[in-house]
Amino acid sequence: MSTFHLINFGCRASQADGGAIKQQLILGGFKETSPEGSEVAILNTCTVTAAADAEARQMIRRLHRHNPQCRILVTGCYAQRASEEIANLPGVAWVVGNSHKHSVAEILLKEFKHPGIATDFPAQAEAQTSHQAVHPILPSPKPQATVLVGEIGDAFHFAPVFAEDRTRPTLKIQDGCNARCSFCVIPHVRGESRSMAPQKVIEQIRRLEEEGYQEIVLSGINLGSYGRDFSPRLSFLGLVERILVETKIRRVRISSIEPMDVSHEFIQMVAGEPRLAKHFHVPLQSGSNRILRLMNRRYWTTQYAERILAIQERIPNCGLGADVMVGFPGETEADHAESLRFIESLPYSYLHIFPYSARPGTPAASHSNPVDGRRIRLRSREMQSLIAAKRQKFLQAQVGETLSVLALHETQEGMRSALSSNYLKVFLPGAEAPPNTLLNARVGRVFGDQVFGYQVS
Ligand code: SF4
Repeated sequence: MSTFHLINFGCRASQADGGAIKQQLILGGFKETSPEGSEVAILNTCTVTAAADAEARQMIRRLHRHNPQCRILVTGCYAQRASEEIANLPGVAWVVGNSHKHSVAEILLKEFKHPGIATDFPAQAEAQTSHQAVHPILPSPKPQATVLVGEIGDAFHFAPVFAEDRTRPTLKIQDGCNARCSFCVIPHVRGESRSMAPQKVIEQIRRLEEEGYQEIVLSGINLGSYGRDFSPRLSFLGLVERILVETKIRRVRISSIEPMDVSHEFIQMVAGEPRLAKHFHVPLQSGSNRILRLMNRRYWTTQYAERILAIQERIPNCGLGADVMVGFPGETEADHAESLRFIESLPYSYLHIFPYSARPGTPAASHSNPVDGRRIRLRSREMQSLIAAKRQKFLQAQVGETLSVLALHETQEGMRSALSSNYLKVFLPGAEAPPNTLLNARVGRVFGDQVFGYQVS
């Protein structure tokens, strides 16, 4: 039996792709092992920042050092963007861009002479057709590496669901992005927005329900644009309504949604529907209008704040998060201070803070006024301490609250951990509920960043 090891980087959509590859390999007769014991290592990469690229390169070198016999297959966004750079790294045998990602399992099954993908994934056939139709196979820059990178087609490559932690499977229902934020390389490596057919979404969720899952995470690159590629157009809101009516899944979490897609109808629906997680992740990027314009973001801070405050008003104990970028080219101290003041004014419970890094080929990368690295680090730290204080306030406000939580597999010193509807990890000492159970827990105390509670029903 051939052996593999798979390492995922990046966002939830990318994790879902990686999960699908893993499941296909296992169904095709491969065995998952440690990096040291594997014949092939698959790196499913991200290229959202220079740090993400560096992390992937470092991992490739480490894998090769520890297991020189292991052949490395690199796929994902970094593979799509910089295939030749990767192909020249030691141990790399294949570079497979997002354009061909759906063929990763097939490539390995053929190479290792496994009979084929024993699968019930009907969309695999759809993926292969588009593969043959669109993508050229480029000549390899070094003999031992095969490079498969082409243009991203307009097919939605269905990623069968695989729950990494066996509790909260991610269902990728949308890929690609039509927005052109000036710093972002993602549209170049994932193509135009495209969506999974609604009937397939429903089928997938019903399958997960039958397998006993309680919570699913809907993910995509720009989830709010779901269905705009169909004719007639469909909406994300309409899809979520269908999911609620046509499936019995107990909890649906929405991974991230752009601010202009957070409509009042959408907030109303989340507020009134106990099956929707009380959690919004709404990318902000900057709290300065001047920087938002330079970033080519399509809203003003007043519009953004209006939506966040509407969430807070309709769903008082909602978990609220955002992505924020610091050190965008041309960002002055005054812009940064404005951004801090704006964030201070909103009820965030967490932030993902990204120091700006230039992505080749993006308009921002050629901006003539970069912010120096030391200043970026300083601004990141200021942003970190601001959100740490806000998060602490949010956590303290949970004491005495009863939260609906999903028991997870993970434990800490024998303590069951659980994830709340409003996106807090809660430790439940003494709780005996098995993983994947929805229960109510009362928050007893907060210790640093850790929340402790007990099961009440
Ligand atoms: S919305 Fe902007 S930041 Fe997000 S993937 Fe699209 S281009 Fe990138």
